[in-house]
This record gives sequence, C-alpha cells and structure tokens, in this order.
Amino acid sequence: MADYRNPDPIDIALHCARAALGMMERHRVPPHPENFSIWYAYVSGRNPDLTQAIDEILRTGTGFSAEINDTLYERFAAFTPEKAELREVGQRVEDAVGRMLEYLSHASQGTTKYGIALETFSGCLNTDAPAPSEINGAIAAVLTETRTMADLNRQLERRLASSGREIRQLRDALDSLQREASTDALTQIANRKTFDAVLSLAVREAESSRRPLSLLMIDVDHFKSFNDTYGHPLGDQILKLIGRSLIETIQAKDTAARYGGEEFAVILPETELDTAISIANDIRLRVAGRRVTNRRTGETLGQVTLSAGAAQFSPGESITSLVHRADEALYLAKREGRNRVMSQRDLPQDGI
Ligand code: GH3
Ligand code: MG
Ligand code: MG
Repeated sequence: MADYRNPDPIDIALHCARAALGMMERHRVPPHPENFSIWYAYVSGRNPDLTQAIDEILRTGTGFSAEINDTLYERFAAFTPEKAELREVGQRVEDAVGRMLEYLSHASQGTTKYGIALETFSGCLNTDAPAPSEINGAIAAVLTETRTMADLNRQLERRLASSGREIRQLRDALDSLQREASTDALTQIANRKTFDAVLSLAVREAESSRRPLSLLMIDVDHFKSFNDTYGHPLGDQILKLIGRSLIETIQAKDTAARYGGEEFAVILPETELDTAISIANDIRLRVAGRRVTNRRTGETLGQVTLSAGAAQFSPGESITSLVHRADEALYLAKREGRNRVMSQRDLPQDGI
C-alpha cells in the first residue's frame, strides 16, 4: 500500500503512477481512486500478498470485473477503524513476543556462563592435588555465578510472567475486536460479512457430508410505514427485538444474521426444508406475539409481522442460487399478503 507518511521520491512515485495507469488500461480496470491505490501498490511491490493475488488473477486470465476490483480494494486497501486497531494489536503482540525472546536469549547466555563456571570448578577438583586456595577461588566463583544465575532466573520469571499477562490481555482485546467485526452493532447478531463466511462453510460442509442444509430469508413487513409512523429510533428497537427473537428460537448450530437493513437470514445446518419452514413460522409467531410498547409514552404500538422464504440446499448448486431461491420464496410470501412463510416448493417448478 502507498505509505503516505513516507512518500516516495517524486520520480519513483510518478513512475509507479504511470505504470499503474498503463496496467489498468491494459487490463480494462476503471481508474477510480480505489482501483488506482491497488494498482499503485501492486506496481511498487510493497505488499507481497497483494502482488500474489493480482499475479494469480493475471495468470488465470479471469479478468478484473467490478466485483474482483472491489474485493481487492476491500482486502488490501480499505481502511477501517477495526483494521487499524487490529494492526495495532498485532504489532503489540509482536513486540511482546520479541521481548520474551530477548529475555530468553539473555537467560541462555547466563546459563552458558554458569555452565562454564561449573566446568572450571569440576576441572579444578579433578586435578590430582588441588591447592586449597584454588578450591576456595573456584567455590567463590561458583557461588557468585550461582547468585547471578538465581537473580537472572528470578528476573526472567518476573519478565516472562509480565509478558504472559500482556499477551493474555492482547488476546482478549483481539477476541473482542473479532467479535465486534463479526457482529451487527444494532442487533448484536452476526453481520452480513459473517453470514457470507458461515454460509460458504455450511455449503461446503453439506456438499461433502451430504447432510441437509436450509436457509431462511426474512423481511419485516411494511417497515417503512412503521418508521414513518413511530420514528426511526423505535424502528431500531424493533430490529433489536427481532434479533433477540431469532436467537431465542434457533439452536447453537444455527446462525442468525442481519442480512441488511430490515432483512434477516438464518442458516440452518442439518435441517430439512419442512423443519426450516416450521422454524420460520416459530420466529414469525414469536415476533408477532410480542407486545411492542413505546417505553417513553406507554403507548401500545401495532403488531410487527414478518415474511419469510425457505429453501434447502441442493448439492452442486451455487450459494447464489440457494440465496436466490430463498429470496424468491420470500417475495412470494410478500405477494401472497405478507405475515407468512413460503418455501421453494411454492415456487413454479420447485424454484430450481
Ligand atoms: P415490505 O413489506 O414490502 O417489505 O415493505 P417495507 O416497507 O418493509 O419495505 P421497503 O423496502 O419499502 O422499506 C424498508 C424500510 O426499512 C425502509 C427503511 O427506512 C427501513 N430500514 C432499513 N434499515 C433500517 C434500520 O437500520 N433502522 C430502521 N429504523 N429502519 C430501517
Ligand atoms: Mg426489505
Ligand atoms: Mg420490508
């Protein structure tokens, strides 16, 4: 990535910029600032992972679609606060481990010195007739080295313990950053990024185990008019309530995610379509059964209803086609009057 705090001398930078633009033109990559930052970094060769990723695309000749360009930018350039924090935590772990290694290398130097003192001592005793002064001298040397060694050990123990504490704290910080990065801030359930990752894993798993896998797509009914009537903050409360209802209904092996806006998705491994439909209905009834009140005014608000679409994974199909089928079923549920669950079976030709 271009390091703006440490700019290239202008001629190198110009050279890289020209080369980047040339390559972008050759590979039909639109010269947006985002794409440019990627190709500039590629040409300057500062990021081996990026170089490898682009070389791989060039080698396979798949070309640079808008989607690939976005992915490259997202992966190698997009600056998010989480990434900055992650980088900082990573740096601190590296520092702490570096310090530990340094302590250990000091300690091993100390051990070597101690070993030499002991050898000298035993060498001295092995002579036929060691002079008492020699023995005394050797004992004094060994005692001094032993004290030094014990001090070193104590110091090492203290330092290792403190580095260990630091690393444990960093691990906790990393855990919570990871949790934050994978969770939707409003509803506290999985975010879209996590959904994509989990679904891709689940599909691979279902593909290889030949076990069933189902997917629900859920959308709040007439949510725009709810917002218009009661205001956006109350709308947000509803989304939180739906997030909680999803978690309360599903099992630990399942994943509920906020797919975007007022849409949710549930990944149901080891689940046949019929069970998925019945889980979707449980979710729908649970949300519809909640009495929603405006805490500030005590006013009882209208019932919130959901529509859902259910689909079961067919081995060999793509993730996109599974999501599409669940979406089609969801839109059918909307067309049929909302507040209901429809599945791929209700679609023309089983939706496949
Ligand atoms: P339908 O039954 O067809 O789904 O109607 P709808 O009104 O729910 O659908 P539409 O797509 O027209 O509107 C979605 C609304 O969801 C509009 C938008 O304001 C609201 N929405 C999306 N994200 C949020 C959010 O984070 N908070 C709040 N309060 N509202 C949101
Ligand atoms: Mg919607
Ligand atoms: Mg809606």
